[in-house]
Amino acid sequence: MYPGDAEFGFELLVCRWAEESWPPEEPRRDAVVVARQLGTRRRRWDTVVLECDPAGLRARREFGERELDSDLLHVVRNAPAEWAWYRDALPHPGYPWRYVREAIHRADARDLVETRRDGNRIEIRQVAPYPDWLRRIVAIENKPDLDASAARALAGQLEHDVETALADEVWVATEATGERFEPALLEDLPVDVGIVALSVDVDDAAASHEDAVAGDRDDHLDHRVEFDGSVEWYPSEVTPADAAADDERRRRRLELAERAYGRGWRSYHETMRPDCRHFELRRFGSALVPNCAVKRRSQTAAECAGSCSEFEPEPPAWRTRGWPIEGGPGKGIKRLLRERREWIRAREYE
Ligand code: SF4
Repeated sequence: MYPGDAEFGFELLVCRWAEESWPPEEPRRDAVVVARQLGTRRRRWDTVVLECDPAGLRARREFGERELDSDLLHVVRNAPAEWAWYRDALPHPGYPWRYVREAIHRADARDLVETRRDGNRIEIRQVAPYPDWLRRIVAIENKPDLDASAARALAGQLEHDVETALADEVWVATEATGERFEPALLEDLPVDVGIVALSVDVDDAAASHEDAVAGDRDDHLDHRVEFDGSVEWYPSEVTPADAAADDERRRRRLELAERAYGRGWRSYHETMRPDCRHFELRRFGSALVPNCAVKRRSQTAAECAGSCSEFEPEPPAWRTRGWPIEGGPGKGIKRLLRERREWIRAREYE
């Protein structure tokens, strides 16, 4: 049901489904931000869902659409409401102050704080209080073919996720087969991990470069998804009881959330080759998934790179008169993905 045999295609469908339908089988209460391939140095999750306070998320927009890294967060979260010397205002960072000064200059260049000089001293003032926008982090591992051996192979990673409790909830998303889940399969996964089975109504119509780009624009991007997630097993909340008091955990979660906020999940066009004449976007439900016309399937992000032996640049004529999208389909695809992201942001954040 999902495109080709690349797990990448399934991953994009899970992201799109989460964007529209999270949480599964419940009404949405929070605003939702979805990202992919994020985590820590030790562990990278396929899909990350942030459940956010809607007013907090709106206030976060004051600080722009790019992520704030840990150094910027240190400055922005602690910047005072009134002018003050930065060393009086900010807690000691645990590393040399010169790095803080660099972060202040970066923050100033992005209008995240105000600065002025008092003699040799740099004073700072907040532009707005940094909001408390993140409520919960949900980690999803995608495994379209979840059989017993896949479940056993995943178990160790998932146990690690539960133990570290950086996320509040851990799920596995798999493809619905129409059959009952084997209890034995559930036994192979940690009991705290949820399982959601995704079924997708395939609309295989839009396959060409031109249809995929031009057709989608005409849809106004505003229809509901045609896929459905059914919960096979509910997860436990894995947040430790004393987590609220744990500053280190809060800091790491916020850094992760900032990365998710800044990157989203559509940025694959930045590493893949939509400028290749064989690159297509295919529609699955309301999700758009990359497809390679040469390989006749959904290609992985790693295959679809400058090193691909079958790469062919889109013909120059595609970029000139007669093509419905200014700049040719490659640029059109990039713009389409950016617009989709902006449209979702506007809907969730306003
Ligand atoms: S031929 Fe290679 S570069 Fe072109 S779309 Fe297919 S995988 Fe990507």
